[in-house]
Amino acid sequence: MPRPIQATVHSDALSHNLQRARAAAPDARVWAVVKANAYGHGIERVFDALRAADGFALLDLDEAQRVRDLGWRGPVLLLEGAFEQRDLELCSRLGLWHVVHCDEQIDMLATHKTQVPHRVFLKMNSGMNRLGFKPAPFRAAWNRLAALPQVEEISLMTHFSDADAERGGGDGIAHQVHAFVQATQDLPGERSLCNSAATLRHAQRVLNAAERLSADWVRPGIAVYGSAPDHPAHTSANWGLRPAMTLSSRLIAVQQVEAGDTVGYGSTFTAHTSMRIGVVACGYADGYPRHAPGTLEAGAPVLVSGVRTRLVGRVSMDMLTVDLGPVDAALAQRGSEAASIGAEVVLWGCSASGAVLPVDEVAQAAGTISYELLCAVARRVPFNE
Ligand SMILES: *Cc1c(COP(=O)(O)O)cnc(C)c1O
Repeated sequence: MPRPIQATVHSDALSHNLQRARAAAPDARVWAVVKANAYGHGIERVFDALRAADGFALLDLDEAQRVRDLGWRGPVLLLEGAFEQRDLELCSRLGLWHVVHCDEQIDMLATHKTQVPHRVFLKMNSGMNRLGFKPAPFRAAWNRLAALPQVEEISLMTHFSDADAERGGGDGIAHQVHAFVQATQDLPGERSLCNSAATLRHAQRVLNAAERLSADWVRPGIAVYGSAPDHPAHTSANWGLRPAMTLSSRLIAVQQVEAGDTVGYGSTFTAHTSMRIGVVACGYADGYPRHAPGTLEAGAPVLVSGVRTRLVGRVSMDMLTVDLGPVDAALAQRGSEAASIGAEVVLWGCSASGAVLPVDEVAQAAGTISYELLCAVARRVPFNE
């Protein structure tokens, strides 16, 4: 038997979540963001479910090629644009739309030889200070692009740093929306502003014609994969999102420990009473976060046989250990046998019983975000087709 860990991608959840994003910005077209191999889910595995999107956004040229190889003829957007001159040849050949965020990329375009002029998304740095032209030089960049025969159409884009929260007294995005609108109001072209958080939290509310916030393209990523972009202010259930990935395994051993016994490397967990410990075939070499806490008070959540319990002790490379107390108690109540070797363990996602453990809760316990956990599922974890 293969080692029992596996990941499962839920196509129905992907379609449903995409639909949720669309419903939040009904007048906008939707880029399904599939960078980082579809947030760890696998571009080929999510493709069919996400075909209902208006386009695919990503940043790796190999991934763009894979989307074309799957037969997608619609829009594909390179979110970071060209990294070097010859990337533009691939853009011409595959018909990729690309972001232009700096003068160097305009220089590359100006010397690019192409039969087909390109569709570009000119990016403004409206406050995040990562990629893009600041509002003042934005127009000069637009004018330069508009004069190039290599450019067919210019769309306008920016990205929010705080769409997931109300920081600094505002709603998180107002100052950036303002900067963007001020600098672009008389420029033609489609707009793209919202990531998942802005799409869910703000698209409806600020659907103010002048600001065209959600128009014309939204760019949801994490929401499509079923995670709340603003957890814990909202949960995935609050947003009506369903987990698109389940990471599951099984118990491969059970240990009876007594008061004073310790569990795992570093003996970081000491039993205060007699208890049963389940040993799960999943460790940090599978992508599970090693820093997830393993204490009775704050242990990261885990489902065993669909019952919620907690990590105890340290996560090791290939295994982690869980408290079977809550599991045995729940099973006894149902008149079932205590958990034993082979019992289903859900690290995040859905159990066979229908119980759901949102990846957001595991991420929060481990002091990180769902994005990191989903992207980190290791190559050695087989995906259930
Ligand atoms: C990753 C990314 C997104 C999607 O962000 P989510 O928070 O996953 O919705 C949108 N726009 C850009 C430019 C990105 O890089």
